[in-house]
Amino acid sequence: MVVENLAEVERNICAACERAGRRREEVTLIAVSKTKPVSMIEELLPGGTRDFGENKVQELCEKYEQLPKEIRWHLIGHLQRNKVKYVVDKACLIHSVDSLRLAQAISEEGKKRGLTVPVLIEVNVAGEESKFGVAPEETEGLIREIAKLPAISVKGLMTIAPFVEDPEENRSHFAKLKKLNVDIKRKSIDNVSMNVLSMGMTGDYEVAIEEGATMVRVGTGIFGERN
Ligand SMILES: *Cc1c(COP(=O)(O)O)cnc(C)c1O
Repeated sequence: MVVENLAEVERNICAACERAGRRREEVTLIAVSKTKPVSMIEELLPGGTRDFGENKVQELCEKYEQLPKEIRWHLIGHLQRNKVKYVVDKACLIHSVDSLRLAQAISEEGKKRGLTVPVLIEVNVAGEESKFGVAPEETEGLIREIAKLPAISVKGLMTIAPFVEDPEENRSHFAKLKKLNVDIKRKSIDNVSMNVLSMGMTGDYEVAIEEGATMVRVGTGIFGERN
């Protein structure tokens, strides 16, 4: 079933890219496997899927141990500073940095291990009370501070858009994040590249691609409902 689901998501991504005049290679599909067994992940490996997303450090680490090392693990959930040490060498990208204190902890851990840790800044683009992430107007300032740290590198922005019935309701949020990304990129801050825009989930990834997403994070659409 997951193989068929993935094929459908893939067709939708291609169609969205075509509508937006973008190339398929500009968009990375992250299969969000949180709460799902390794056997479901293994079903996708022969087809070439390599990018998987987890929102909990412990689950990411367990799956990391059990599965082939060519998998690229994305940490997409909130990260606590005391868990940084477990994940800096296992995640290819941490999508959820939203404070200087967390960035400092990541950089410190990276330095110890001789790594430069790639991260995205999580932006609370809709200003939802319940969500992690920095306010749009605070994003550039935070990035400028993080850019001074030795062993962490900002690659772009991430957002978790509101849960909505109609994905069109999130279009303006995606457009706003894209604009913020472009504005910050134009500043050419040393050690900051801003080429990654992680936005769009099962309910709204096509709209996100139309608005410039370079990474979409799809869980339910591939693996089915979670409990
Ligand atoms: C769970 C999760 C997703 C995937 O959500 P679906 O709606 O199942 O596609 C994407 N991003 C983050 C940060 C998540 O926690």
